[in-house]
Amino acid sequence: MKGYIHSFESLAALDGEGVRYGVFMQGCPLRCVYCHNPDTWCSGGNSFSSEELVKKVSRYKSYFGKNGGVTFSGGEPLVQAAFIKDTVQHLKVAGINYAIDTSGAAGLSEDAKCVLRDAQLVILDLKFWDDESYKKYTGGSMLAVLNTLDFLESIKKRVWVRTVVVPGINDSEECLEKYLELLKGKKCVEKYELLGFHTMGFFKYENLGIKNPLKDIKPLPAEALTRLQKFVDKRFKRSLG
Ligand code: SF4
Repeated sequence: MKGYIHSFESLAALDGEGVRYGVFMQGCPLRCVYCHNPDTWCSGGNSFSSEELVKKVSRYKSYFGKNGGVTFSGGEPLVQAAFIKDTVQHLKVAGINYAIDTSGAAGLSEDAKCVLRDAQLVILDLKFWDDESYKKYTGGSMLAVLNTLDFLESIKKRVWVRTVVVPGINDSEECLEKYLELLKGKKCVEKYELLGFHTMGFFKYENLGIKNPLKDIKPLPAEALTRLQKFVDKRFKRSLG
């Protein structure tokens, strides 16, 4: 089976536990205003078979140790859930773990459920706090994301939730309270991590000739991110109760 892959990142320490091999899938149904990978939006591009991908990844197996492995990211990996499902069968045979980094916006096809069920970890982006804000800043519907979170809770999957904090949009404690409300009672969520908005992908908008809706917004200062993460950490522990 063939899948479309934007790029790879070998031996990354982000996006999951241990040493990771990042596979950035091509295609995304959302158009987040803060996206730093607009070059992943369209479908198509470089194609790989499941066997080719697993062969490529297997070269790094000795670095993965007990907790490391592959992280499928994007774009939105679950747009190509059938390909990932096929690939992870081969990864299993090779003894390699995988994590999924998803927006949860692609919907829960049977293939997507299968891929999520077998993942060692799911990283779920909780992008905005209600349907109105979600629609406004991503173009998508929040319902699919909440359904994905409910599904992950129902199968007791280990989940890390992430939110990108953008100055002037969601960089207040009041706003983050609304996100925390959505996570209340979700025992599957092990941690809630904030990421600061940055401008490193701005050049891609220029190269692609796409309008950048946040071109005048400055990166979130590191001290603001630290302060808000502390706030969230405190509340998050309580919200799980
Ligand atoms: S889900 Fe990710 S890749 Fe898709 S538009 Fe949003 S930030 Fe970009």
